[in-house]
Amino acid sequence: MSVQEYLEKHKLSQKIEDAVNAAVRAKSSDPVLFISNHMKKTCISTIQKIKARQIIDSRGNPTVEVDLYTGKGMFRSAVPSGASTGVHEAVELRDGDKSRYLGKGVLKAVSNINDKIGPALINMDPTQQAQIDKIMIDMDKTDNKGNLGANAILAVSMAVCKAGAAEKDVPLYQHIADLGGITRLVLPVPAFNIINGGSHAGNRLAMQEFMILPTGAPTFGEALRYGAEVYHHLKTKRGGSPHSSNKEGLDLVKEAIERAGFTGKIKIGMDVAASEFLTDDKKYDLDFKSANNNGSEKKSGAEMIDLYKSFCTEYPIISIEDPFDQDDWENTKALTSLGICQVVGDDLLVTNPKRVMKAIQEKTCNALLLKVNQIGSVTEAIQAVNMSKDAGWGVMCSHRSGETEDSFIADLAVGLATGQIKTGAPCRSERLAKYNQLLRIEEELGDKAIFAGENWRPKLGAAPPAGSAAAAPAAAK
Ligand SMILES: [Mg+2]
Repeated sequence: MSVQEYLEKHKLSQKIEDAVNAAVRAKSSDPVLFISNHMKKTCISTIQKIKARQIIDSRGNPTVEVDLYTGKGMFRSAVPSGASTGVHEAVELRDGDKSRYLGKGVLKAVSNINDKIGPALINMDPTQQAQIDKIMIDMDKTDNKGNLGANAILAVSMAVCKAGAAEKDVPLYQHIADLGGITRLVLPVPAFNIINGGSHAGNRLAMQEFMILPTGAPTFGEALRYGAEVYHHLKTKRGGSPHSSNKEGLDLVKEAIERAGFTGKIKIGMDVAASEFLTDDKKYDLDFKSANNNGSEKKSGAEMIDLYKSFCTEYPIISIEDPFDQDDWENTKALTSLGICQVVGDDLLVTNPKRVMKAIQEKTCNALLLKVNQIGSVTEAIQAVNMSKDAGWGVMCSHRSGETEDSFIADLAVGLATGQIKTGAPCRSERLAKYNQLLRIEEELGDKAIFAGENWRPKLGAAPPAGSAAAAPAAAK
């Protein structure tokens, strides 16, 4: 086709004239920029090219990044990865070549995108998220995305989502809300992890994360300030001495909240990650990090429940994640039935729809920890959130221990109105990438910004009305 034929076929002279007229009507101060933006809207907006590469995450390990091109520009996404990948999670494809990055390279996943997924998606409309995700899942042909790799599929899925938002000329969070059928956008309460315990920390604390949730803040921006101030109070107090007991950890958090002046406005959450300290005789060893300990801190399930009860009485604890081993559904259910706090399933559920459904039916826990890379596509993440909300559960959107500068989960949390997000302490860029994006979203929404605050989850024990999404207004669809 000659240029002349192309111009005629696409009625370009008419489009240019329209753009000039629009610039005149708009009294644009920069007509060239205005006309070029106006013309961009007439560009072919299907997927033109997909290019993947290996980059390095916040732990120094390789991960997958994708550049997806449409007529609207280039859209980039990078996937996070977790320290432990359970048997029930979608497969993160690693090269296994020990001579490079200790076997953790992702070049196979990268070539699966460049050679297989990319060519299959050329000329597709990026607003058709569900259709595109289905094509990738069908191409993979496994239940756990083990063929193409969940890291490959998710990286493309997130980039498609960003391109879809640009195609509709709406913010990413708005596009995600449209995809999920959500009509009320909500800024989540941040859960800042301010003390680390568990198997990877250099102290004796058995429980993995001690978090603060500023539910009493009036806005997300204020919640971030509360969190940062408590974090600094804790840092000055701590002085590097290792913590020995979980109760000491809770005391430190409580004191830091008091000293920062936020008593009553900031609540406490914990991620126990109890699978890490289940013993062979099915007990929980709170001193598991001391070699050859005398077993005096081993507790039965019932004793652990008593411990959690005393924690919830003595401290303003509102949320406990993985209070028992990932396969200890009985004790998890027993704690949930007490109705004293939110019980979050992370290792328990691994964002796996089958396990989520089972836990809903058996009333095992009452909140989902949403990790997009465990499920492997945007469409399935939306389904898992909607399934949880329909059951009256809380939803905490979560980062992973291996993160990137991609702030996708901030928009995801707002768009799906999850009400809660945990993406680490208020420090370090890969974490602040998410919190700072939430600040920008709050600013952009202006008067329409709703901070989840006290409505961070549906009320405990309140059954969702038949046929409706959830009980609390903040989490309502
Ligand atoms: Mg966890």
